[in-house]
Amino acid sequence: MSCIMTQYVLPKLPYDYHELEQFMDAETLQIHHQKFHQTYVDGLNKSLRNIGGEFHPKYITSILSDLNSIPTSARGDIVFFGGGYENHRLYWETLSPTTHKKPTGKLADSIDLYFGNFETFQEKFTKQSLSIEGSGWCWMVFNPTFQRIEIMITVNNESPWSINKIPLLCIDMWEHAYYLKYQNNKPDYVKAWWNVINWEYVMDRFCELGN
Ligand code: MN
Repeated sequence: MSCIMTQYVLPKLPYDYHELEQFMDAETLQIHHQKFHQTYVDGLNKSLRNIGGEFHPKYITSILSDLNSIPTSARGDIVFFGGGYENHRLYWETLSPTTHKKPTGKLADSIDLYFGNFETFQEKFTKQSLSIEGSGWCWMVFNPTFQRIEIMITVNNESPWSINKIPLLCIDMWEHAYYLKYQNNKPDYVKAWWNVINWEYVMDRFCELGN
């Protein structure tokens, strides 16, 4: 029997599938986590194996930040599966059944500074997420060049890391994230999502950057 080193694995959710029920149904979460996210985990491991990088010493965010270090032929797969792996990891971590509804402290100050107030930030973020045509993600990122938070969108599974932005919060705008409960009603999905954000986690990420 050969010894195969474990590579990326499906992360455990920090809550049970039913715990977000009022806003995100258990069936959607379970399929999303066990089927879709697992596909990205497997695809990432396979993509790395294909280029002999299965023991790549760098974590996927570092690889996504330096795509030139990956052979051109494999870049598309790494962006798709690596982004899919990491985007979902963050998405799960930034959800919580017990939430404070709003950030506080330095992140709240930063939102006020760049967006006026939290409600305006929410409106702008919602508008951007709903502007995505097809599959994609909407993000709150930290821009290290300008030392400020920003809202941005990416298509498919592309990652902000690849354009030197650090993800703090994200919403999955692929149809598989909401279709069972919300069908084509994307606005209701986004509206519900605001109720289950783990602001503690997002604020910790923001502070870890030295803010
Ligand atoms: Mn997804």
